[in-house]
Amino acid sequence: MMKVLITDQIHPEGVSYIRKQGFEVDEKVDLSKEDIKKVIGDYEGLIVRSRTKVTKDVIEAGKKLLVIGRAGVGLDNIDTETARERNIKVLNTPGVSTTSVAELVIGFMISAARHIPQATASIRSGNWEKEKFSGIELAGKTLGIVGLGRIGNAVASRAKAFDMETIGYDPYITKSDNIQVVDFDTLIRKSDFITFHVPLNDTTKHMISINQVRKMKKGVIVINAARGGILDEKALKQGLDEGIIGAVALDTFETEKQFMTVLGGEENLIATPHIGAQTEEAQKRAGIEIGEVVVEYLKEIRR
Ligand code: NAD
Repeated sequence: MMKVLITDQIHPEGVSYIRKQGFEVDEKVDLSKEDIKKVIGDYEGLIVRSRTKVTKDVIEAGKKLLVIGRAGVGLDNIDTETARERNIKVLNTPGVSTTSVAELVIGFMISAARHIPQATASIRSGNWEKEKFSGIELAGKTLGIVGLGRIGNAVASRAKAFDMETIGYDPYITKSDNIQVVDFDTLIRKSDFITFHVPLNDTTKHMISINQVRKMKKGVIVINAARGGILDEKALKQGLDEGIIGAVALDTFETEKQFMTVLGGEENLIATPHIGAQTEEAQKRAGIEIGEVVVEYLKEIRR
């Protein structure tokens, strides 16, 4: 019987699905990297989320390993190069968090437009600062979406329900039924809200620098729930301090857990600790889907 090791918590329905399909499953979610290296040699499949670092030495210790499944999207924690060299398939579940991230972005837009987090903090400190928390409506505003993939499109559909104009930029997409496609410069200049839904790579790293910030509309609200590093946080800080940017909302940071060094002092910052996919529904979908694709692959190989 083929064996699957799960080293990060995934949804129980995913685990039971793999068992029902005739595989032996061991869930060991508190193993150190050294512990994983000691046991991985017994398994054909490994399933992780983002905590387990599947580095070269871990993969090399997996003498029988055929597949590595990542419940979720990013493969930053997996040495995909070594896996490829050793003919080990790497699978993930790219679409499972689309709705969750899109809803967080809508939450960011309304929170920033109406200062909900700051007003909550103020009222908790015993204040009643009605004038200070005047806001703007989303209706009639232009939302610029950078990256017209799964999440970008899901954000656009939801923004339309708020009567927003949506424009988008994506070098690989020239036409869309959902969004008016424009060039990057137009998007930066015309948008009242700008949200990023691109991967982090050489073409997207620091795609917002101070030069871009200086082209933006005064009061623009800038959102990043994609990956840290797409926006230069120092440029965002400068934009806020110079009064160009009205608010910044971030779920992802250049340096996670330490972002306070750059933007922490900014009153018009809304921040969440990378919770885009952190919903009951997305986690459940990720657990079930990773179970399904890993099982499917192992069954195919066994044939
Ligand atoms: P996707 O692959 O469906 O879409 C990405 C789009 O970006 C593609 O259409 C691609 O053509 C476009 N793109 C690539 N380079 C570009 C560039 N230079 N300028 C403009 N567009 C460019 O991906 P997705 O599922 O929509 O995810 C988008 C991002 O959200 C990814 O970075 C993903 O890692 C991130 N994400 C974050 C969370 C979270 O917890 N906050 C959860 C899930 C996904």
